[in-house]
Amino acid sequence: HISKLPGNKTSIFSIMSKMANDHDAINLSQGFPNFETDKKLKSLVTQAMKGGYNQYPPDAGVLELREEISKKIQSLYGRSYNPDREITITSGATEALYTAITAFIKPGDEVIVFKPAYDSYEPTIKLNGGVPVQIQLTGENYRVDWEEVKKAISSKTKMIIINTPHNPTGSILDTKDMKELENILTRTDIILLSDEVYEHLIFDKNEHQSASKFPGLAERSVVCASFGKTFHNTGWKTGYCVAPDHLMQEIRKIHELTVFSVNHPMQVAYADYLKDPKHYLELSGFYQNKRDLFLNLIKDSRFSFTPSSGTYFQLLNFSVITDEKDVDFAERLVKEKGLAAIPVSVFNINKKDNRQLRFCFAKTDETLEKAAEILCKL
Ligand code: PMP
Ligand code: GLN
Repeated sequence: HISKLPGNKTSIFSIMSKMANDHDAINLSQGFPNFETDKKLKSLVTQAMKGGYNQYPPDAGVLELREEISKKIQSLYGRSYNPDREITITSGATEALYTAITAFIKPGDEVIVFKPAYDSYEPTIKLNGGVPVQIQLTGENYRVDWEEVKKAISSKTKMIIINTPHNPTGSILDTKDMKELENILTRTDIILLSDEVYEHLIFDKNEHQSASKFPGLAERSVVCASFGKTFHNTGWKTGYCVAPDHLMQEIRKIHELTVFSVNHPMQVAYADYLKDPKHYLELSGFYQNKRDLFLNLIKDSRFSFTPSSGTYFQLLNFSVITDEKDVDFAERLVKEKGLAAIPVSVFNINKKDNRQLRFCFAKTDETLEKAAEILCKL
């Protein structure tokens, strides 16, 4: 067969957004804001373009931006990454994840993935001949059972992928989780791939626990981040990863082959914009208000839920409303009611929990109000 990924279909995010457009529906499916990125940041981009930053930047990214990222991580998580050797700007976190998996996974290597999982991890593992080893997150709050992780580790385990705050469940890993993981991984050669694209979207006074905060994790971790999520401009496709020198050397080999380098003027603009920590520290409060508004608006609906602790996603359980499969219900919702959401079965969730849809609340209050009106009538 010619296909390297025979089981893969078009991403649900593309399908649902297209369906939403085709049916003129409110789109709470694919994760992106329906409001504008900061004017100040846009004018920094135009300034950079006018200033002549229009040719290839260095392959690892604009050095000034890497320096700002290094300072930010140092101040938030207390670890020092060398901007020259340990930070790479990527085409969104998507490229960072792809590059990190491709750099290290050889045929037969096992990679532990927690279910439900973001949809890019497992196909990328398979594309490299790796074998995903799935572990189900458990309970209402989708926690990791660390005893299960210990049991799942074998001599073939090359990597573990974590994602906190977690898409699609909105769960987060706390200090205890990270210490458990640190204990488990010490004295192994396992690489940790930590997807932290929602690091600045964390609610209810919780603190983001970055892998870079824990020395026993940081020394073996590739941490991925995304400016698109943080600065309301997912379409600029700019993110980064940080890792110790010996890992980053391998990642850069793949980065040079996939994209070589990423857009120049945006990087120049971000470097300036990152100098003011307010630009990312205010984000949690902003999105917590959105979450609270959305949940308050639907509190009398027939959906049940546990409030999201992070990300800009909220799972809603529809088991009282219909017996349909999540995919069928999502399709009916967009076609007949004009509201698009993501069926969580695409994240490879177990059957029991597969009675939920994921709603993105990175939307104007007005959009959330309209969506809630539809949800309350179901
Ligand atoms: N990881 C997770 C968990 C995501 O939700 C997303 C998409 N928002 C990405 C990675 C990809 O990020 P980016 O848009 O920067 O490529
Ligand atoms: N990460 C976004 C989401 O979960 C979508 C990214 C994409 O479209 N690939 O909705």
